[in-house]
Amino acid sequence: MPAPIIFSGIQPTGRKHLGNYIGAIRQYVEGQDRGDPAIFCIVDLHALSVAYDPAELRERVYDTTAILLAAGLDPERCILFRQSDVREHAELTWMLSAVTSHGDLNRMHQFKDKSAKQQELVAAALFFYPVLMAADVLAYRATEVPVGDDQRQHVELMREIARRFNERFGETLVVPELRVPAVGARIMDLQEPERKMSTTGGTASGTVLVLDEEKTIRKKLGSAVTDSGSEIVRSPDKPGVTNLIDILAAVRGIGHDAVEREFEGVGYGDFKQAVADGVVGLLAPVRERYEQLRPDEAALEEALAAGAEKARALAAPVLADVRDRMGIGPSA
Ligand code: ATP
Ligand code: MG
Repeated sequence: MPAPIIFSGIQPTGRKHLGNYIGAIRQYVEGQDRGDPAIFCIVDLHALSVAYDPAELRERVYDTTAILLAAGLDPERCILFRQSDVREHAELTWMLSAVTSHGDLNRMHQFKDKSAKQQELVAAALFFYPVLMAADVLAYRATEVPVGDDQRQHVELMREIARRFNERFGETLVVPELRVPAVGARIMDLQEPERKMSTTGGTASGTVLVLDEEKTIRKKLGSAVTDSGSEIVRSPDKPGVTNLIDILAAVRGIGHDAVEREFEGVGYGDFKQAVADGVVGLLAPVRERYEQLRPDEAALEEALAAGAEKARALAAPVLADVRDRMGIGPSA
């Protein structure tokens, strides 16, 4: 088996949360030694799809870069860059829109959820988001896309777009595989465990941020909603406890069953304390490294620029093939 070409994107915000960390960032760190290459992108163009502040966006890109480096991404072992620095993403988006079905875009859950929350304008960019996401991945002929469970539908769509392109214009693009973690692919909000933990959607006290202080993390986990009964078992009518079991299993890298066995007969209070210990142990070192890295914006910019150069070198020939196949520009 040849090494996979791994690609994933993450939105620029300083408010990255435990769900992002377990569902995505940890997979990136693991992927950088399996992937050849492993490519990770801070998707500032995706951030334009909802209301935002231009001056803040630049800052948030640095926040996210520093979080990823603090979590263990190493620019020597992966390609880390800012989406807008590689113009090929935007160009390929338009090309792929020719083989994207409007009806498919209409079915995307994320568009339905996020458009309902927009106060002033539902931007066409929000509707088009999955086409840009397809371009992000397909521009590198990536074979593997590590994401959380909420991105299943978007990955399925990009697979369909690649297949349709190849059928229409000849074999050009690679149909990538989804990769979601076995445990922790969908961490739920601690206060509203029916909803996923989210940067933009969830409750403030139900969202544990990667950069939260230890006492904040303990407070949020301590006040996580639990369910009626007293048993620590996973069950559809116990979404709160199920989520905490998931979190602890993911933090420790063990199965759900092992957590249930260990906490048989233990009360909710002690269980929550154990989950808090685990999460603090996971995130505190990341926050410490973040604080060292974040002030040096010149160094962060340099790392992103070097990553963009490597990314461009990979995407440019794919775009040349796409243009040629589509009859765009002079013949090659
Ligand atoms: P938003 O809710 O505004 O879309 P987000 O929290 O989903 O923000 P993203 O940057 O869109 O953050 O997602 C980055 C990665 O984190 C994606 O791979 C996504 O699937 C994953 N992810 C997001 N939320 C969770 C969650 N609650 N559990 C596990 N993985 C998640
Ligand atoms: Mg998201």
